[in-house]
Amino acid sequence: MTTFDLQGKVIVVTGGSRGIGEAIVRRAVREGATVFATYNASSERAQAIADDLAEQPGSVTFTKVDVADEAAAIAFIEHVVATAGRIDGLVNNAGITRDGLLMRLSTKDWNDVIQTNLTAAFVFCRAVSRPMMSQRSGRIVNLGSRVGLGGNAGQVNYSAAKAGLVGLTRSLAKELASRNILVNLVAPGYVATDMTDKLTPEQLAAFTSAIPLRRAASPDEIASVVSFLLSDASSYITGQVLDVDGALAL
Ligand code: NAP
Repeated sequence: MTTFDLQGKVIVVTGGSRGIGEAIVRRAVREGATVFATYNASSERAQAIADDLAEQPGSVTFTKVDVADEAAAIAFIEHVVATAGRIDGLVNNAGITRDGLLMRLSTKDWNDVIQTNLTAAFVFCRAVSRPMMSQRSGRIVNLGSRVGLGGNAGQVNYSAAKAGLVGLTRSLAKELASRNILVNLVAPGYVATDMTDKLTPEQLAAFTSAIPLRRAASPDEIASVVSFLLSDASSYITGQVLDVDGALAL
């Protein structure tokens, strides 16, 4: 397995208790990082991951934080800075879907998805920007999606949130470059997680047949790219959208 050196880096990962976020946490801890991860509902799972990683070079601490709760998010980042003294990386990974065709999509489902996938990322970016600016270094990786770039019927809320993350990423990359803070977005296509378990067999078959690699990504295949973007190996990459989608976008 290709690894990157995250030795001694303090990394925040939102939604680290399942799926892609769990894979990001596992990798970062194996690569030596001190990880502060959040979960919302999966407390037993978070504890099991922390126990499983206890003997690895890095460490992980899980905290229950609903990323849609602005005050809780800000308090969490303050806690990380108070505990670790710095923040080297932020991964805005937590995300939800509330799918439905436009005519049946409630304003609540629109707002919940925008709040959790987009507004929360803004709040976390703003909260880490102060310590990163004073350090004059930092990495932010946002989890976007292929559907944020290409759209998807039944997901106007989710694709709007993910498209919003592209604008946030590019603008922030320009805004923070002079402080050596690099901001990028990883756009997976179809990854085998609980989130995609909700898709119907017909939707899954349509997705897979449209992917030139003819398979879903594993969560670790997304996590390895995130690790690269958190590491010193990517020191001249910022403002980019990286499709990690088996060529789905082509
Ligand atoms: P997942 O398996 O459903 O896991 C979602 C994670 O986010 C869980 O750890 C969950 O924690 C956390 N989370 C959800 N709502 C939260 C909240 N309000 N506060 C804090 N944490 C919350 O999803 P995934 O497939 O790994 O997706 C991870 C990211 O990749 C998302 O941003 C998603 O949009 C993106 N993505 C996924 C795919 C895919 O094919 N799977 C494709 C493109 C992009 P709890 O369980 O503790 O609630």
